[in-house]
Amino acid sequence: MSIGKDSVVQFHYTLTEAGTELESTKGGDPMAYLHGHQNIISGLEQAMAGKAEGDTFSVTVAPADAYGERKDDLTQRIPLKHLQGAKKWRPGMVAWVETDQGQRQVTVTKVGKFNADCDLNHPLAGKTLTFDVEIVEVRAATDEEKAHGHAHGVGGHHH
Ligand code: ZN
Repeated sequence: MSIGKDSVVQFHYTLTEAGTELESTKGGDPMAYLHGHQNIISGLEQAMAGKAEGDTFSVTVAPADAYGERKDDLTQRIPLKHLQGAKKWRPGMVAWVETDQGQRQVTVTKVGKFNADCDLNHPLAGKTLTFDVEIVEVRAATDEEKAHGHAHGVGGHHH
């Protein structure tokens, strides 16, 4: 079957930015998502539509269809105890922070004794991203997956 609304898609991808590899699922489990529910960035989701099991393709996504443009003055001073992901922080490290809208990634720019200045832009904001994709499996979503709005099983959510 080809990918459409409520397809559960397993795929491998390699993400590069300006020729530098940033992430890859190769050698591990594929990623899984529920199509049509904004589980993945819009530029990649649009490119997935109509593709089928075994297809490989490459798509380059502008910031507006990926993680948005970078915004200046998105710096905030955050208590170190609220930064998750490491014990000691250095400028340039990426931390997870709990917010009203769920977890988000921030980049540490300056570390003090009790607080760190953090750039709240997504680490991939402002970047044009290229995804090399291999579709591993396409299947119809279960009622439970549709109700949850995400894929279950390998590469998806585990409850
Ligand atoms: Zn679920």
